[in-house]
This record gives sequence, structure tokens and C-alpha cells, in this order.
Amino acid sequence: MSIYRSRPQTMDDLVISNSQSDGALRIAVVGCGPKGMYCLERLVSQLSPIPDSVRVHVTIFDAADYFGAGNVYHPDQPDFLRLNFAAKHVNAWMTEPSGPNNGSSLGGGQLCNAKTVAGPSLLQWLAIHEPTLADGEAYVPRSVVGRYLHECYQRVRAELSQLADVCEDRRSVKQITRYGDRWLLTVDQDSFLYDEVLVTVGHEGWRAAPHVETIVPTRTIPSVYPVQPQLSPRKIPPQCTVAVQGFGLTWIDAALALTEGRGGTFDRHDGEWTYQPSGTEPNRIIPFSRSGRPMLAKPTDTLVRAPKNLDEVWRLHCKQIHDIDDREIDFEKVLWPIICQAANDALELCDASAPRVEQWFDDWLTNDWDHMAIVQAMQHSCEVAAGQRDVDPPWALGQAWRSLYCELVPAISHGRMKSESWVVFRRIAAEMERIAFGPPGENLRRILALVRANIVDFRFLQSPHVCRNLNSLQISNNGRTAIADRVIHAVIPTPLNASLGGPIASLVMQGLVMRNKATGAIDIDPAGNPIDPDGNPLPGLAVIGRPTEGCVLGNDTLSRKLHSHPHHWAGRVAKRCANWRGKS
Ligand SMILES: Cc1cc2nc3c(=O)[nH]c(=O)nc-3n(C[C@H](O)[C@H](O)[C@H](O)COP(=O)(O)OP(=O)(O)OC[C@H]3O[C@@H](n4cnc5c(N)ncnc54)[C@H](O)[C@@H]3O)c2cc1C
Repeated sequence: MSIYRSRPQTMDDLVISNSQSDGALRIAVVGCGPKGMYCLERLVSQLSPIPDSVRVHVTIFDAADYFGAGNVYHPDQPDFLRLNFAAKHVNAWMTEPSGPNNGSSLGGGQLCNAKTVAGPSLLQWLAIHEPTLADGEAYVPRSVVGRYLHECYQRVRAELSQLADVCEDRRSVKQITRYGDRWLLTVDQDSFLYDEVLVTVGHEGWRAAPHVETIVPTRTIPSVYPVQPQLSPRKIPPQCTVAVQGFGLTWIDAALALTEGRGGTFDRHDGEWTYQPSGTEPNRIIPFSRSGRPMLAKPTDTLVRAPKNLDEVWRLHCKQIHDIDDREIDFEKVLWPIICQAANDALELCDASAPRVEQWFDDWLTNDWDHMAIVQAMQHSCEVAAGQRDVDPPWALGQAWRSLYCELVPAISHGRMKSESWVVFRRIAAEMERIAFGPPGENLRRILALVRANIVDFRFLQSPHVCRNLNSLQISNNGRTAIADRVIHAVIPTPLNASLGGPIASLVMQGLVMRNKATGAIDIDPAGNPIDPDGNPLPGLAVIGRPTEGCVLGNDTLSRKLHSHPHHWAGRVAKRCANWRGKS
């Protein structure tokens, strides 16, 4: 029997910890990383003024040490784990309603915004607290961003406390159940009733991806984070050979944790990076993945050799996407050609003789990614990113994707894209993660220095034959074989892999929220209300962020400019507060 069916069915069976009635509207926020904090900020901006007669309780549930920062930006993590977003792009505050469709009829933006909560952008905050890092183009440690986000949270909380009774509960919510027209939250042995529940659980904490194949458990590291306990010398001894499954941003963090994190140092001479080992790192680090395709460096805007008049190109093609009025947009026939055309137009302004991006992209997909090809692609992208080389098709395609993304989000989200387009979209979006949303150039240069130091070995990267023995992993490719005595899984769970025993899985298993057949995402409306099996938004419940990826594009970001769900959620809740007549 499902654990969710064993819940008490009637009020009589339950001991409800907040059952005393004071007529207040009760709001629960489940998960308070960056998204939860952004939603609370929007609530403050729209909750005021509420009638004196209305009381509002807000409870914020999260077991994380630092609200606002969550796990990803935990202030105690090592400094070599860096943001992959330049500092100038991070601002926890906004003065205007965010995202597209601001003028919708959901209530957001229509209420009197009597209170403006504001604070410094990351760059302004750095100028005061970490002046040596206060450079708009810098990729700062995630720990520093976490300190910033936590301070922002404290400011939001202080403002909210002037409007509502606010309480922090430092525990994880296990289950959410419908209870009449309210919602019942289960936390440890306690149960609480709420009128409004917002679920912003993001990654649902650090956890391994499902179906991790192990050699012996002590030799398999199922998850990279948090790096200190997971990749400690006790688990991965000095001088061992370690295979790493996965070749994305998580693999880069793993490689840096095993080298820089063990006291090794990177030196720069005339733009050339070298690695000085500490002697405590693994002897060899062997990444492997299905495609073997590398991530490319993100360009530094102030250095890259691109003409200044590109904005017009992006504006033109953004407008083209904006003006599409198809009810069901075909990604391959409509959106992808616009993206490629934008990239080709940009490239033409720089170098008319460059090949078209479509041709380059075909080569990218069909290339044989051996050690040399990977090193060259990475090196080349670092040089383009730093303005040491002219721009090229991958730069143009990446720049087009990033520049048009703000229009792709509304064109693809909330079912606007044809469901048949999802297979192609997913395949191309995965490539664009590598091409457009890769690491900062400095991190790729560190990896290349580890290659030159004969620590990182790409020779087994693309679809090797992997044989799991009792105590080791045998990995073979192109006639070569290596034996790894440790295996690290550098792949984080996808948005579809909800944590079993967590609130998202509980809602899905009870059939309260639906997963979209084509995307697997939890379908929500623009205010974050999940769509129930009858196609109606569920009142009093909102899910915002990563679990909705597929219904909403590009959730997993610090950017506040892409999505308006927090704003509309807050607008709807504020409206409910204003009309609240109490409940016994
Ligand atoms: C390793 C890594 C690096 C990244 N780097 C960048 C980057 O450089 N730039 C960028 O823009 N984005 C980056 N991201 C994406 C990042 O996830 C987002 O920027 C941001 O953290 C999303 O915020 P969130 O609040 O939706 O989710 P999260 O940050 O995951 O926060 C969710 C919060 O919910 C809490 N929670 C989870 N389950 C429960 C529960 N059951 N009950 C109560 N609370 C719960 C968690 O403790 C956490 O505090 C990175 C992600 C990862 C994994």
C-alpha cells in the first residue's frame, strides 16, 4: 500500500499542531532557497496595505542552514566552486514586475504596490563586503553569493514581519495533502493546516541521481555534493585512479575539488595556466559520458572580439519570436531557424567568410570526440571568450541562444510549443547547455592545465565500454583500457526525478498534481497553481521552479528577469489576503 494512503482521513484522527483558530490566513512556504526568497520578496511588495482586521501568518519551512542561499549557494562551501554567471547578472531585487505577461489578469501588478523592498545588487554588495571580487565580469565563489542571498533574505524577512506573523521552521516537509479547502503539511510527526502553500523546493537538497550503478558501495561515490564529505581523501585516496561519469558543470566541480581542493595550485604565466600538484590528488581522473561533447567557455563580454552593433540583430530576432502567433509552435520549423538566422547575421557582421552555424552544428553532432578534438575545442573556446581569437560559429550560436532566451521562455512555456516538438527541443537544448551555458573560461583553462599535468585524461570520454567488476571499473575505448578504483557519479537528478518521500512525489502519487504526458513536468498556470486532472488550477497550492521544468523553460537560474510566476503568485495571495474574512 502506498505510504500516502495511510494518512489519516478525518480531522478526528489527526493532531494538528496549528489548529487553534485565530481567524488568520495561513501561508506556508516550503523551501527557501533563492526562488522561495524571491516569492517572499514579491509578497512583501504586494501584501501592503492589508486591512487592519486581517491577520496573516507565514511559516517558512527549510532544513537548510542559510535561508535564501539553500544548498547550492551554501556560504560554507569552498571558494573554488564558482558561479557560472558573471557577477553583473545577479541581482536579488527588482523594481518592476518580472518576466513576460506582466499585465495578465492574475492580480499581480494590479494591486497597490505600497511597499518597495530593495537592496543592493550582487555587484554593489561585493563593493562593500568583498571589494577584491567587485568586478562585473568576475565569476565569484558560490559561497560568497550565498552570503549575499542570505542577507537579502534577512532583509525580506524583516519587511515581511511588519505585515505578517512570520515563523521559520527548520525542518523538511515530507508530505502535502488536500484537507477540505485547505492543505495539510506533514513534518516529522507533526501536521499543520494552511490556506495557501507555496512549494519552492528546487533540487530538493543534495541527493544522488536514481539508478546509480555501483561497484562496491565504498568505491562508488553516488553524488558530488557537498564536495567536502563526498570527495574527501578518505573516500577517494591520494594517487588512486578515479573515473567520473558525466562531463557537465558538475564534473568540473568534481575535478577542481580533487585537485585545487586538495591543496594543488594553478599558476598563470603569460595567459598560460599550469598546475602544481600537492601530491594528495588522484593519480588520474578519467571522465566518461555518452556524447563526449565538451562544454565551451562563456565569453567575457568586455573582451570578446564582437562588433558593438549586435544588439540590433538580437532585437530583430527577439521581435520575430515575440510576434509568432501560432497556437502550437513547431520548434524545428519555426524557432530553431530564427535562432540560427540570428547567429548567422551576427557572424556576418564579424566575418562574412565564416561557415554557417547550421553546418558547424551538424559537424559538432557527428564529430569523433577524441582527446585532441576535445582539448582543441575547449582551448579554442577559451581564446574566443577572452578575445585572443576572432569569434566563430559556436560563439555566434551560443550568443544567439543566450540573447533570444528571454523570448524563448514565453514561446515554449505553458504548452505553447507543440508536444511533438519536445524530442527535438530536448536534444538541441542539451547541446545548447554545452555551447551557450558552459563554464567561465578560467575554469576550462584550469581543466586544460590538469590535462597538461597528465592528471585529467580524455582518451576514454566518448561512449567507452564500461565493465563493472567487484572492486573496480574497467573502462575501454579505442583499444585502450584503464582500471579505475573509484567511480564518481557527476550527474545530478533531473527535474523529473522527484525525491521519494518529499512533497513533490507525495503530490504526484496522490494524483493531486499532474505530470504532462509530453514533457513529464508538473503543469502549472502563470501564478504557479498546478493544473488538476480536470484541467483546473488547484486553489491554495503553488509549485514554482525546477519541478515545473518543461511546463516552464529555464527555471534553474538566479535570474529574476525570465519568469513572472513569483510575481503572479504573490499578487494572487495578496488579493486573497485583502479579501480575507477569517475562518474558524
Ligand atoms: C552545482 C550547481 C551550480 C549552479 N550554479 C549556478 C550558477 O552559477 N548560476 C545560476 O544562475 N544557477 C546555478 N545553478 C542553478 C541553481 O539551482 C539556481 O540558481 C537556484 O539555486 C534555484 O533556486 P531554487 O530556490 O529554485 O532551488 P534550490 O537552490 O535547490 O533551493 C531549494 C530550497 O528548498 C529546500 N528544500 C528542499 N526540499 C525541501 C522540503 N522537503 N522541505 C523544506 N525545504 C526543502 C532546500 O533546502 C533549499 O533551501 C546551479 C545549480 C547547481 C546544482
